[in-house]
Amino acid sequence: MSLKVPRLPLAEGAADRVLRELGITKLPIDPKEIAAVKGIKVEAAPATSKGFSGMLAQWDTNFGIMYATHINSIGFQRFSIAHELGHYFIPGHSEQVLAHGAHTSHAGFGSRDPYEQEADFFASALLMPSSLIKPIIARQEDGLDLVKTIAQECVTSLTASAVRYARMSRSAVAAVLSEGGVIDFCLFSEAMKEAKVRWPRAGSPLPAGSLTRRFGADRANVASAREDSAQADLIDWFDCPKSHIVSEDVIGLGNYGKTLTVLYSARLTAEAEGLDEEDEDEKLEESWTPRFRR
Ligand SMILES: [Zn+2]
Repeated sequence: MSLKVPRLPLAEGAADRVLRELGITKLPIDPKEIAAVKGIKVEAAPATSKGFSGMLAQWDTNFGIMYATHINSIGFQRFSIAHELGHYFIPGHSEQVLAHGAHTSHAGFGSRDPYEQEADFFASALLMPSSLIKPIIARQEDGLDLVKTIAQECVTSLTASAVRYARMSRSAVAAVLSEGGVIDFCLFSEAMKEAKVRWPRAGSPLPAGSLTRRFGADRANVASAREDSAQADLIDWFDCPKSHIVSEDVIGLGNYGKTLTVLYSARLTAEAEGLDEEDEDEKLEESWTPRFRR
């Protein structure tokens, strides 16, 4: 049966299990080494092969991975291999994606196919395991510099690092990938969701007057990986009930042609933490309240 929605905890849990079983506890994680342990052959595709990030193939009981090299980024190549490993390790994937022969992937959070999404979140959790990146997130202030630290320590792309950061952080954070004035992809942290922001549709325009829009309109900013930052209002960015002042950090992603934005707010973070504490208090009260009505 084919999937309608991605099962992110299942995908991430599969990655955690692989690391645990192989006893891998140090960054950076080497996806080629994991493939080697499983007897999976890994090969680089020629840089002239474009239009895919990687491939998984099976012959008899053997598996092979080919990864694209047309994007000259070690982080992207490692992510592509990890994505294919996702199809190998996530329960039910290989049967589904290899049903009609070799599988061609589009890794990097752009796909709407739940199998591709699960493989992307597997790759994130494999290369940036929660137990190893939580300490990094805890010791550094929120914002783009933290994304850069994650990317450096995990040897991952800035985009993948920002997405993982938004997924793991207890702070109010949104990671947004855009190109040509429109949003490609966006991910909110749990604390950001407390501000009742609605997901923008892929292809929604960037807010008029935003730093990201101005920044991305100048190709030189993107191509030479410039950075900038400003204050913004969340209500200009997303459909949400109230105005919230947030920080907006922006970086150009070079040849990739896209712009990465990190939105974050210490105030929203504190508010979400307050809510958390209330929840905890309620839970405590509940667990201590005798149940008379049983
Ligand atoms: Zn795939």
